[in-house]
Amino acid sequence: MHICVIKPSLSSKRTPDALPPLLFAILAPLTPKGVELTFLDENVTAVGDVPCDAAAISIDTFTAKRGYALADGFRARGVPVIIGGMHATFCSDEAGLHADAVVVGEAEDTWPTVVADLQAGSLAARYVSANNADLAAVEFDYSVYEGLRYPPVGIVQFSRGCRFNCEFCSISAFYGKTLRTRPVAAVARSIRQLPRRLIFFADDNLFVDSGRLDDLLDALGRHRRRWVCQISIDVAKDQVLLTRMRKCGCIMAIVGFESLTAGNLRQMHKAVNLAAEYDDAIANIRQAGLMLYGTFVIGYDGDTPDTAGALAAWAKARGLAIANFNPLIPTPGTDLYTRLQAEGRLLFDRWWDDPSYRYGDTAFRPAGMTPGQLADSCRDARYGFYSLRGILSRLRGANAKGLVNIVVFLLMNLVSRRSIHQKQGGRLG
Ligand code: SF4
Repeated sequence: MHICVIKPSLSSKRTPDALPPLLFAILAPLTPKGVELTFLDENVTAVGDVPCDAAAISIDTFTAKRGYALADGFRARGVPVIIGGMHATFCSDEAGLHADAVVVGEAEDTWPTVVADLQAGSLAARYVSANNADLAAVEFDYSVYEGLRYPPVGIVQFSRGCRFNCEFCSISAFYGKTLRTRPVAAVARSIRQLPRRLIFFADDNLFVDSGRLDDLLDALGRHRRRWVCQISIDVAKDQVLLTRMRKCGCIMAIVGFESLTAGNLRQMHKAVNLAAEYDDAIANIRQAGLMLYGTFVIGYDGDTPDTAGALAAWAKARGLAIANFNPLIPTPGTDLYTRLQAEGRLLFDRWWDDPSYRYGDTAFRPAGMTPGQLADSCRDARYGFYSLRGILSRLRGANAKGLVNIVVFLLMNLVSRRSIHQKQGGRLG
């Protein structure tokens, strides 16, 4: 049996900022010997009419429409299709219209049954994960990326889940309230398997298990890799920890600042940020010698047409190396989606499948501006922050010390610039 495992892109085009999908490395060891897998990531390679006995397609909300188009094509050729991923989990009935089977939740306890049922010719319509896989038993086979042209970054996972529950985010709805971590020895094994010198942690917050933190940092230091991770802003209170991170190879921390407005932070349930002094956190991160990557979400009720531009100026003044100015997007599975739907503020029935929706458009009615003003202000903030002049003017203040950090700064900024310009205004599907 030959199964194609596919990650669709937004609209069949390749994207410059694609990172290797962990799903591929997870599925390979879960698949019985004798079953051939072909991994196709449309962000780096064309999918085409590849011959196979089944297609497994993983979708998020932005790639759902393209995933459905690919699924319909396979089924028209008589190839059974399985759809999974975050969006299929929250919109399983919708995904079921384009698939023979839908996987709800994680792959570890569902994929082996899917494959066995495919081989027996008795595929079920739904496979529902308990989402409680023991991460100590999860193996990652990084050889699946051979031949696929990704940037030179290795992806490692230490934990799943998040200890917060921001209104606009679906992580907690997907993984539940529990936090799971891999043994540090298993993480070290993953790092050893990766030929890449630069590692990106896929975790939503690397520091979920303070008991294992010392061991994790020791292992990272021993392997002499440079790495980037996401942290919540409370971690940035600890100057000693930040300095130790840098000594153990960390070069950049990603922090979700989201908003400068207390009312917005309350509305998005981001209490951890309300309790933080942003400028102190930034000073600590810089003093430790780390570069800072900040993310912002624009469109909460306290925001106006000036907010995105003001955030971009704030980020520049504080020396952020990278910053995302994301228009607020109601994705299924989030409390935000439920609230805006109840308030009658959604502009589309299903924006991700609507022919008139373009990447960067607003999908709801903001309180402090028009939908067009929200979209335009975020686009302008991104274009300005990532203009060539903007990138060069930020290099000096971005804490990019040493040749490697300067190269990482320039590469990440130039890739972000290309990606922003390529995606903005594009059709989905
Ligand atoms: S936005 Fe970040 S901090 Fe908030 S719930 Fe999602 S992953 Fe956790």
